[in-house]
Amino acid sequence: MKLRDLGEFAFIERIRELVGAAPELALGIGDDCAAGRVPPGHLLLTTTDLLIEDVHFRRAWSDLHALGRKSVSVNVSDVAAMGGRPTALFLAVGIPDDLSLEELDRFTAGVLAACADYGAVLAGGDTCRSPRGLFISVTAEGTVAEEHLVTRAGARPGDLLWVSGTLGDSALALRELSAGGTPPAAVAARHHDPRARVALGRALGEGGLAHAMIDVSDGLLADLGHILDSSRVGAVVESARLSLSPAFGAALRDDESLVDLALAGGEDYELLFASPPQAAAAVRSLATAEVPLTQIGRIEPQNAGLRVLDAGGRERPCPRPGFNHFA
Ligand code: ADP
Ligand code: MG
Repeated sequence: MKLRDLGEFAFIERIRELVGAAPELALGIGDDCAAGRVPPGHLLLTTTDLLIEDVHFRRAWSDLHALGRKSVSVNVSDVAAMGGRPTALFLAVGIPDDLSLEELDRFTAGVLAACADYGAVLAGGDTCRSPRGLFISVTAEGTVAEEHLVTRAGARPGDLLWVSGTLGDSALALRELSAGGTPPAAVAARHHDPRARVALGRALGEGGLAHAMIDVSDGLLADLGHILDSSRVGAVVESARLSLSPAFGAALRDDESLVDLALAGGEDYELLFASPPQAAAAVRSLATAEVPLTQIGRIEPQNAGLRVLDAGGRERPCPRPGFNHFA
């Protein structure tokens, strides 16, 4: 069965029934706008990301449920990077004729499962036919107490640089897939179904522990570059300190050039933040078995620029910065 057999309105009605009532919303799916509430003293955060078939994903490599989850997670990751709590998601889809209704339902189920995981509600969207390829645009809203907002600006010389989780897994998976191979399951999961670090982002914001923060979507060095530009500072990163997964570590032993994937690969969706040295113990106490925290370098004055040191403390050339769609 295809969407045209069901019809746009029956499809939306099906989603509306699956979502149910949401206490945070005065109005959800079904009117011209959703109407949400922002608690007093809080800011409304809003972010949007496009996922375009054959630009951001290949349908042949993607399970539609995981793709639905990922569409939500990459947006929620931006809310987490501001110290916020995700509240409402909006899903706009352009649906090609060759997508079955079963696939579409799997995708929607993935979107709703991820919303539930993050405690957010699907509050609206738009549904259109696409002449070619699947188009997904998700918008996420969140809230944060005004005093707990963390931006890219605010890092100071002397701050320690921390990153959550492990780096490079997603880029390694993409490299294997592009070469026609099959990445190890743990590495593939990081590419297809990344998890936004909401609890960590909120704890850092609420604890006043981060001077500046960003989520690593374009690659560690590219996203660190955004913090350095916004904060008008420099930084040093020690590549030997990067936290790597067992699967990534095993691949690195065979090919040491893979360290560039951890430094610049992208789509890690980990949090990178600058924190004063006196907060180090409090930061360390936020680490969990699933989401470790690693101190990978420190903030320096702006004129020091961005330097990457190898295990012997020698400066190594910075790999190409992150993905640029128009380069
Ligand atoms: P309008 O023409 O006023 O934009 P639509 O018919 O496009 O209204 O949408 C009707 C309702 O369904 C709106 O509340 C809209 O947000 C919601 N909606 C449409 N498509 C989706 C979707 N794919 N996921 C969630 N909500 C959707
Ligand atoms: Mg509409």
